Amino acid sequence: MVDIDDSRTIAEEQLAAVAEMMGIESSYTVYKSLGLDARQLVEKAYDIRLTDPIQYLTKLGVESVFRFILTHPDMDHMSGLDRFSRKFDLLNFWDTDNNKEIDADSWDKSPYRKEDWDCYQQLREREQSPKVLRIHRDQTADCCWVEDGIQILSPSRELVADANDTEDYHHLSYVLKVTYANRSVILGGDASKKVWGDILEYYGEDGVKADVLLAPHHGSIHNFHKEAMEAMAPDYIIVSVAVGTDYAYDEYNRIGKVLSTKWYGNIVMTISTLGHIGCAKQFDR
Ligand SMILES: [Zn+2]
Repeated sequence: MVDIDDSRTIAEEQLAAVAEMMGIESSYTVYKSLGLDARQLVEKAYDIRLTDPIQYLTKLGVESVFRFILTHPDMDHMSGLDRFSRKFDLLNFWDTDNNKEIDADSWDKSPYRKEDWDCYQQLREREQSPKVLRIHRDQTADCCWVEDGIQILSPSRELVADANDTEDYHHLSYVLKVTYANRSVILGGDASKKVWGDILEYYGEDGVKADVLLAPHHGSIHNFHKEAMEAMAPDYIIVSVAVGTDYAYDEYNRIGKVLSTKWYGNIVMTISTLGHIGCAKQFDR
């Protein structure tokens, strides 16, 4: 699971928060007075920066990507898509039936790049290279996931319609359950509380049990659905979150062991053929 957001720098306004979190307020002030920019400060004071997924996959020798899943059409989930699609051969592209539009005048003020949005709009039209799939709960298809043990918990067609009506695209986020060797991982996308309630009601407590959860919406408290999280009862909760951004640590910590990217860097979970779960972290802390 790769979070595609390729931002490698920290916004200036987040720096003070980072410094405080790291207990380095005084050196932060010194660095500031030396005129160091955000990136230099991060290098000196805090060693975790988000990894560029393109560099990460290139180092692993990846040339083509069998399945690219865009959980929902928010820019923080497709930042770098233009570079990504040029670099790798994309075979299948999982999209959603969303009606999102972005005002052409808004890019000036946006931290994101228009090229990525334009690239997405072009990819959406494709029938091959990549083949675009828009799939829903309970749908079966002869390609792409049955053999891989991927179950689509969400969205349902109703949730897609709801998201399009309300323009809250977290309602149509993909939520996937991947099962291997009797172990399950739930990838929560940015699913809203409404989605979690719907999933719990539809599948029941037994249907949502998982060993690992990728927390929805970067661990935001607004997407934390207590009953659903308790029913999933994962041993591990991975939070994909950047330095300087807060998340619901206390709430998730009551559910299972929390591992965040802002603390551990890249986190790679593996499941052996015998069902043993392994966890490799970029930084040991
Ligand atoms: Zn997001």
